[in-house]
Amino acid sequence: MTFDTLGLSEKVLAAVEAAGYKEPTAIQTGAIPQVLERRDILGIAQTGTGKTASFTLPMLTLLEKGRARARMPRTLILEPTRELAAQVEENFARYGINHKLNIALLIGGVSFSEQDKKLDRGTDVLIATPGRLLDHFERGKLLLQGVEILVIDEADRMLDMGFIPDIERICKLIPFTRQTLFFSATMPPEIQRLTEAFLQNPARIEVAPTSSTAENVTLLLKGTPSKDFEKRAVLRELLENAEDLQNAIVFCNRKRDVTTLFRSLERHEFNVGTLHGDMDQRTRMMMLDNFRKGNIKLLVASDVAARGLDIPEVSHVFNYDVPINAEDYVHRIGRTGRAGRSGVAYTLVTSEDQKYLQAIEALINKKLEWIGDPIDFEAATKERKERRKTGKPAAKNAKSSNDNDADQAKPSTRRRSQSKPRDTAPKANVVEEKTEAVTTPAPVSEISQGSGGKKARNDREEEPAFSQGVHIPAFLLREPRPKKAS
Ligand code: AMP
Repeated sequence: MTFDTLGLSEKVLAAVEAAGYKEPTAIQTGAIPQVLERRDILGIAQTGTGKTASFTLPMLTLLEKGRARARMPRTLILEPTRELAAQVEENFARYGINHKLNIALLIGGVSFSEQDKKLDRGTDVLIATPGRLLDHFERGKLLLQGVEILVIDEADRMLDMGFIPDIERICKLIPFTRQTLFFSATMPPEIQRLTEAFLQNPARIEVAPTSSTAENVTLLLKGTPSKDFEKRAVLRELLENAEDLQNAIVFCNRKRDVTTLFRSLERHEFNVGTLHGDMDQRTRMMMLDNFRKGNIKLLVASDVAARGLDIPEVSHVFNYDVPINAEDYVHRIGRTGRAGRSGVAYTLVTSEDQKYLQAIEALINKKLEWIGDPIDFEAATKERKERRKTGKPAAKNAKSSNDNDADQAKPSTRRRSQSKPRDTAPKANVVEEKTEAVTTPAPVSEISQGSGGKKARNDREEEPAFSQGVHIPAFLLREPRPKKAS
C-alpha cells in the first residue's frame, strides 16, 4: 500500500514525501479514504499509530476548496491537553507546507487578544482545548456555525479529565450537517454513548490492540518497600545501575508524587525535569523541549501529562508506581523501544500491588521478570489479614520478602502526618522555581549542595543513610555549578 492510492491531493502527497513517510499506517489506510468521502469516523487507535496524520492529511485535502470567513472557523479539532493541541498544530504546519491555510490554536496560557486577532482574520483550522474554546465562545468572539469538520481526539482522555460535558455542549453548537472524526484509544461505556449521540453512521476503524508491547523492550520488575523514601532509594539505585541509559521517563500514578520525586531527584543532583497537569504552558513546553534536545536526561511525569507526547528515543522507562489501569502500562512502556530500537522498562512493585500487576500480565499475556527477590505477595497478604484481626504487626517469621512490614504496621495516621509537610507545600510555585532552575543558573543561595550538603528540608530526615554518597554516572548529572562560597 502506498499513499498515492488513498485519494490525497498532490500538495498533500508532496508534503508526505518531504516528511519521509514511505507507507501509510493501518489507521491511515483505513481512515483517509473514508474522511475524503465525507463519512464520520470512529477511530479506535492509540498514540503512536499515526493517528494524527490519519485526520490531518485528508482534512488538508478537503480544505483546498473554499475559504475561511472572519470568526467562523471551517474546521475544529478538540484536544484534551495543550501539548497535544500544540503537536497537532505542528502536524498541520508540517503537512500543510504547500497550503496557505490559517491555523489558530486556542489553549490556556496564551493571551486572548492574540488569539482573537487570529480568529478575526478567518481560520481554516482551529485547534483547541474544550475549556478555552468555550471561553472564547462565551466572549462572543467565535461563531461555530461554519464548522464543516469536527475532530474529537483522545476522547477517553477527555473523559478522564472531566471534559465530556464541555464536549457535549460544543457538539450541540456545531451544525449537525458537519462531518465528525472521533478518536479514542479505548471505548468505555460513556464514550460509546457519546459516539452514538454525535456520530452518524460512522466508519469504524480499529487498530493495534492496546495490549501489544514491543518485542524489543525488556520488561523488568523490582520489589520495593512501600514507604516513599525507600521507594525513592530503590529508584535511584536502578537509575545508577541501569545499563546504556541515555534518557528516561519516570512515571508516577499521583500528581503529588511527581512533584515530590522530582524534587528528591533534583536534590540528589540528577539531571531531571518534570511534567504534570498543573504546570503552565510555557514551563511545560520548555521542559519538553529541553528533554527532546537532551539537556534534561530524566523526566518525571504523570500519565495525563505524558499521554500522546511525541518524545523520540527514550532508552528507559521507570514506573515508580505500578499503574492502576493496565492499559496505562502499555502506554507508558510504549515510550521506549520505538522504531526497532531496544528499550528497558522497570516497574517498582510493592506488596500492595499484586492485583494491578496481575491485570497487566493478563493484558499483555506475559509473565514479567523480576530483578532481585520477587515480592512474596502471599506472605504479605497473610500478614495484612493477621494485622487486621489482631491490630498488631504479624510475627517476625511472617515478614514479606521485602521487609516492608515496618511500614505496613504503622497506623495510617502516622503515615499521613509524615507526608503532611510535602502536601502543604505551595506546589505551583515550587514547580516553577525548580523547572526554571533546569535552564537558568541558580542564584548562589539556591545552589544544591549534593546529597551530603547541609540542607533544611521537609523530608531530609527520611532519606536513608545508604543512599548518601553513591556514584551517579556523569551524564545523568546536572551541569557542574559553582559551590556556595563558605
Ligand atoms: P501519532 O500516532 O499521530 O502520534 O504519530 C506517531 C509518529 O508516527 C509521529 O512521530 C509521526 O510523525 C509518525 N508517522 C505518522 N505517519 C507515519 C507514516 N506513515 N510513516 C512513518 N511515520 C509516521
